Amino acid sequence: MTSNSSSKSSTTIIVKGGVKFPAKCVVCGQSSNIETVFISGEPYGFWLGVWKWLFGMTPEIAVPAHKECGKTLKKGLLRKNVHLMILSAIAGGAGLYFDLDLLVIGLIITAVITPSILWQIRNPLPVEFAEVEGNLRFKFRDSNYACEFAALNVVAWRAYY
Ligand SMILES: [Zn+2]
Repeated sequence: MTSNSSSKSSTTIIVKGGVKFPAKCVVCGQSSNIETVFISGEPYGFWLGVWKWLFGMTPEIAVPAHKECGKTLKKGLLRKNVHLMILSAIAGGAGLYFDLDLLVIGLIITAVITPSILWQIRNPLPVEFAEVEGNLRFKFRDSNYACEFAALNVVAWRAYY
């Protein structure tokens, strides 16, 4: 275990089977024995993943979080996805309007969303998850929380950045 919980990194953990969380708020790290909030899975995959997310078909799970912490977390998750989708739609729409080649449109979308993705990597949210090939992939901002989480679950894979 590491005591270094830098906010400029995140820990990715893939869980097999049921998910258990430490009895601590995933946002502020203080005790949160009974309060939970439901969060939706992130889009996984550029096209199908985005459509699933837009139609509310990504899985939902309850994470331990105080009411106010949960609101902040949900807003952060929503802002992140809507922001990327709006940027992609504007870039894609402009590309189609000017009748550009699909490859060029793809490159423009990539160029437009890359700074936003880099910013998100540097400023991770407290927790994010996505369904990846039947397992759940979690990303945690706090590496200590991630270690406690990993200890409670059957972990298929983890990575520290
Ligand atoms: Zn909290």
